[in-house]
Amino acid sequence: MGKRIGLYPGTFDPITLGHVDIIERAVKLVDELVVGVAINEDKRPLFSLEERVAMVRGQMETVAGKSGVTIRVEPFDKLLMKYAEQVNADIIIRGLRAVSDFEYEFQMVGMNQALNDDIETVFLMADARYQSIASRLVKEIARLGGNVSGFVPASVVNALEAKFTVGE
Ligand code: ADP
Repeated sequence: MGKRIGLYPGTFDPITLGHVDIIERAVKLVDELVVGVAINEDKRPLFSLEERVAMVRGQMETVAGKSGVTIRVEPFDKLLMKYAEQVNADIIIRGLRAVSDFEYEFQMVGMNQALNDDIETVFLMADARYQSIASRLVKEIARLGGNVSGFVPASVVNALEAKFTVGE
């Protein structure tokens, strides 16, 4: 059997300790992991695509070092299933937090199975400490001057501070 390749797609606006925890679990399942950073302009990201990719890459050295798995971080701007086929993914990794994630993810899997039934979607749960972390709430807290150091890596704390102090 060849190398097992996983694709972990997301917006990562910005990467949180929840995402990092999922990546640390995902590398146990694959030989190579592609972290796909979606352009997602509809979501009006706070950070540019380049900034989001750079922030994810900044965290990967430690994870890759620990696991011995090759991790690639790449931007993508196409249908998820087409991108998964392009990178030869065997599995797509998604994280599940609360019941609220379930409905959306359930629909996505159904549609993705119709597009390509050979690529399985695997759901992972973060450690309990990180389960409630959401990029959206982290941005809200940072915007209002709250302390986000328990939710995102240190370099991301700085990036958020820089975003919200510029022009004030
Ligand atoms: P998307 O716009 O694709 O939902 P996100 O960057 O918000 O992108 O999330 C990417 C993936 O990571 C999703 O599957 C999401 O459910 C998961 N995820 C995000 N935060 C957490 C967390 N704290 N615990 C577990 N999974 C998470």
